[in-house]
Formats: sequence, structure tokens, C-alpha cells
Amino acid sequence: MTYDNNNIFAKILTGAIPCIKVYEDDQTLAFMDIMPQAEGHTLVIPKEAAVTIHDLSDDAAANLIKKVKLVANAVKKGMNADGITLFQLNGEPAGQTVPHIHFHILPGSYLTAKAHASVSSDAGDLQAIADKIRAAL
Ligand code: 5GP
Repeated sequence: MTYDNNNIFAKILTGAIPCIKVYEDDQTLAFMDIMPQAEGHTLVIPKEAAVTIHDLSDDAAANLIKKVKLVANAVKKGMNADGITLFQLNGEPAGQTVPHIHFHILPGSYLTAKAHASVSSDAGDLQAIADKIRAAL
């Protein structure tokens, strides 16, 4: 699939748009979801330009899942969560809204996640949560 260099996560990767960062290395960035479905909802993206998992190189995919595990461990510990849901949508028909591959890390159950409106998306609150997750890395 053709990669749009102007998608919102591409802009986050270049720093053109800010994010509340949890983890970064040369191949990966993890940050707080701006419209969390649960407290601690975190996104992990590769720096490689790929729309879906089908476009991602094997090397980047292998690295990405390692980093998803690293950050998921920190979300679990930092948020004191009993369970963690991972999900990852490929293509608009599957519900993907941002065309740069990303994993969602969601404390608790996807099935019982609160409506967006009932979880704070206040930047200060997200920053405080990110601090807890970072401390657990
Ligand atoms: P998708 O539906 O593509 O799997 O998920 C995209 C996610 O990106 C959504 O959960 C949405 O809240 C999040 N999102 C969209 N725009 C932004 C943004 O500008 N910053 C951050 N941090 N998250 C975003």
C-alpha cells in the first residue's frame, strides 16, 4: 500500500506534531493514545514507513513485537493492570484510521473498555500516566 508521508504518525515521528512519549529507540516509538479507550492506552509504532503489517519488513516486524512486549510489560506494571489487551488493525475495512502501522496496548479488556468520553484525554493526565509507565520500563 502506498505510504502517505503526511499521515499523523509520520508527523509525530518527524516531531512536526507533538506526542506524549513513553519509549523511543532507533527503530521504535511508543506514546500515549490521544483518545484513550482506557487509562494507560499506549501506541507502539515502528519508524519504518509501512501502512499495515503486510507492508512491514520482517526485520521491522520482529523488532516491533519485541518492543510491544517491552512497553506492554511497563504498562501492566505502571498501571497495576491485571490484564493487558493488544490489538492492531490493518486497512480501513478493519477499522484502521491512521495509515501507519501501530499496536494498541490497552490495560484491561477491549470488550469492556470504557467509551472514549469517560476516559480523560487531558494532556496533564496523560503525561502523569506516561510518567508511571516510563518509570516501570
Ligand atoms: P486505529 O483505529 O488506526 O487502529 O487507531 C488509531 C489511534 O490513533 C486511535 O486510537 C486514535 O485515538 C489515535 N490517534 C489519532 N490521532 C492521534 C494523534 O494525533 N496523537 C495520538 N497520540 N494519537 C492519535
